Amino acid sequence: MDEQQKLRLRQIAGPRIRFHVPMDRHTTFKAGGSAEALYRTGDPEELERVITFLEKEGIPRLVAGRGSNLLVRDGGIRGVVILLADGVFKRIEGPGTDGEELLAGAGVSLSDLLISCRDRGLSGLEFLAGIPGTVGGAVIMNAGAFGKETGPLVREVKTVDRSGHPSEMDASMLRFSYRSLDLEPGTVITQVLFHLYRDSPERISQRIAEFLRRRRETQPSGYGSAGSIFKNPPGNHAGRLIEEAGLKGRSMGGAMISDKHANFIVNLGGATASDIISLIRLAREEVRKKSGVLLDLEIQIVGEPQDQKV
Ligand SMILES: Cc1cc2nc3c(=O)[nH]c(=O)nc-3n(C[C@H](O)[C@H](O)[C@H](O)COP(=O)(O)OP(=O)(O)OC[C@H]3O[C@@H](n4cnc5c(N)ncnc54)[C@H](O)[C@@H]3O)c2cc1C
Repeated sequence: MDEQQKLRLRQIAGPRIRFHVPMDRHTTFKAGGSAEALYRTGDPEELERVITFLEKEGIPRLVAGRGSNLLVRDGGIRGVVILLADGVFKRIEGPGTDGEELLAGAGVSLSDLLISCRDRGLSGLEFLAGIPGTVGGAVIMNAGAFGKETGPLVREVKTVDRSGHPSEMDASMLRFSYRSLDLEPGTVITQVLFHLYRDSPERISQRIAEFLRRRRETQPSGYGSAGSIFKNPPGNHAGRLIEEAGLKGRSMGGAMISDKHANFIVNLGGATASDIISLIRLAREEVRKKSGVLLDLEIQIVGEPQDQKV
């Protein structure tokens, strides 16, 4: 971005745009370089104006939720990181007319969503308990756990396309698959309408507690991470394959393949993105040698390498 472009962005977005923002504060890995700019908004019309400008100027952009599925390389992110972290994007409305719909802003955290669901007596999303993402991130990743996925509970999404035009897509237009929703590149999800089921707050609360308990038993806590690094290959578990390759507990700099769940890499403190990427390469290579399976990444690695720092 040149100085003219930065000035223009300031004119459109005022103090909501900041430059050279470390992304370790905006990702659950707590690692990686800085974003050239970070735009935090709660205003849909301003968002559309910013996106229109970025598209016209050819400036790259990345929407982030909680950064819980992202690894930012050490050289940082070129262009603008967009956070839908205020205003209407943090709001939850409903239930709607049939008593089973809930409209949530894309920036609502999954924990706030679940509290709202419980208090309103709306069931279906309890399996998301303990996933530290946002509504937008969970829908575009089709987040899932314990055999359930987000996609089937989505009735409609409101979006802004890469040129800044708002639109709506109903369930029949949404193509969900394992950890993915097929949308035009650059599409921003701004709000999601869920279709849920009526149940008592007590039973919803019990299910949330049960999912949290199962998660605590099997997953590391207390360290930076991005959840599962690799997708589970059909009929198998990435964690099991990494464990069988003898890599549990293997470390590189400040990063370690978790000794509790081998598909997690944890930041023990001060890990660089390149420490984490080295472990990812090692796991992939050793699993390929040992079992012939080529593991596919579940996390998304974004940004520039250290030698091309933004
Ligand atoms: C401890 C831990 C446990 C986890 N457990 C699970 C699990 O059980 N199941 C599971 O599926 N995942 C799990 N995850 C991964 C992660 O939390 C989910 O993928 C989550 O849905 C990502 O949400 P996010 O808001 O953090 O998205 P981010 O990580 O910020 O972004 C992920 C992707 O979504 C895009 N994106 C985010 N918001 C929007 C938006 N509004 N519009 C368009 N694109 C957007 C980003 O550009 C990026 O490509 C776990 C992560 C951690 C750290």
